[in-house]
Amino acid sequence: MITNLAQGVRAFTSNVYLVDGDRTVLVDPGANFDVVEAIRSRVDDLEAVVLTHTHPDHVGNLEAVKDAFGVEAWGYDHTIDGVDHAITDEETIRLGDHEYIALHTPGHKDDHLCFYSADAGVLIAGDLVFQNGSFGRTDLEEGDRETLIESIDRVSEWIDDDLAELHTGHGPSVTSKPAEHVELAARMARQT
Ligand SMILES: [Zn+2]
Repeated sequence: MITNLAQGVRAFTSNVYLVDGDRTVLVDPGANFDVVEAIRSRVDDLEAVVLTHTHPDHVGNLEAVKDAFGVEAWGYDHTIDGVDHAITDEETIRLGDHEYIALHTPGHKDDHLCFYSADAGVLIAGDLVFQNGSFGRTDLEEGDRETLIESIDRVSEWIDDDLAELHTGHGPSVTSKPAEHVELAARMARQT
């Protein structure tokens, strides 16, 4: 099961996905709220933290989570503070009860990863795309629109048309035809 622990939180934070099951993992610890308490109220233990990318709104709570649960963090670039282990492009990782493929998807930030499970029908998109064709900012450091478009196209090729769930770094998850939202983002990113 995938739960957004930042749902309803009024703070400058990303969404925070607790993926529980065989291997209970936190995807992006978020920032500026007590995520440790939110995790403890739902699960006994955490096995790992996995990062879509290291913008402050996604990792502000990282040290607190690592300290509280004695876990380590996985992300694309292990030379970044707080990232203990590297995930390489197209590496398979286990989140909850399913295998996900990690897709290196720069354009919003150089170390950005998306996680896709064909088996679960789930895409965890970070700040690459959002509902209704919105897409990640490219005006920040390391941002690049052409690169972002390439990354969205790459993810589009990976996902199946019957993708069931799109979980994004901000805003609501999409459970009705999420593949169409990804396609729309690819078009919108070319137009604006
Ligand atoms: Zn970001």
